[in-house]
Amino acid sequence: MLHSDSITLSIPVEKSIALIAHDNKKQELIEWCLLHQDILARHKLSGTGTTAMMITRMTGLTVKGYNSGPLGGDQQLGAKIVEGRIDFVIFFSDPLTAQPHDPDVKALLRIAQVYDVPIATNRATADFMITSPLMNSTYDRRVKNFQREVVKRSDTLSGRKE
Ligand code: PGA
Repeated sequence: MLHSDSITLSIPVEKSIALIAHDNKKQELIEWCLLHQDILARHKLSGTGTTAMMITRMTGLTVKGYNSGPLGGDQQLGAKIVEGRIDFVIFFSDPLTAQPHDPDVKALLRIAQVYDVPIATNRATADFMITSPLMNSTYDRRVKNFQREVVKRSDTLSGRKE
């Protein structure tokens, strides 16, 4: 493992799905959740505080809520991706309204890219993702072997020879 450029992390059949919507998109996400309720019910759901509470109330799905987005919820979800505890993200972001927590939003998008986690930022992508045959199987995502990088950089920066 330590010697290869990348490692594979498996997305299991029962996926850990994070659900997030900016305020102008919350209604759309709730409608989307209702439409795909049967599929979503087969997975573990979590989300930012307000989104999670609204989906739970309006659909009956169990959605674990973290902090509200502007209060660090996006960062909490990002940390779960790093820990391998979230492997699928549906994020209905609002491209037409400035968000006070824009850096946190960018950080979440970036960390999903780094960890090769599927992430939908609009409804069409979310529809394609949730109806993919891959929803019913495991999927090996490829992540850069950071452990090897850390050893290499630590050796280089401390002048240590191989
Ligand atoms: P919220 O956060 O679900 O608490 O509204 C979402 C966001 O704005 O990132």
